[in-house]
Amino acid sequence: MLYCFDCGHESPIEGDWNQRPNGDAVDYDCPVCRTTITSRPRRDRHQPGGEARLLHCSSD
Ligand SMILES: [Zn+2]
Repeated sequence: MLYCFDCGHESPIEGDWNQRPNGDAVDYDCPVCRTTITSRPRRDRHQPGGEARLLHCSSD
C-alpha cells in the first residue's frame, strides 16, 4: 500500500497511481494532487534471454 503524504490518497502499488517512466526508474504520481510518491526501478531492461535478438538488425 502506498500513501500520498500530501493529500492522504491511498492505493496499492498496482493501484491508480500515475506511472511515469523516468530514465531507469518509474515515478509514481498521486492521481489526485500529482505529487510524486515514490520511484521504483524498471525491470524490463535486462531480461535474461529471449529479446536480445531484436537488437541485432544489421544488414550483414
Ligand atoms: Zn495526493
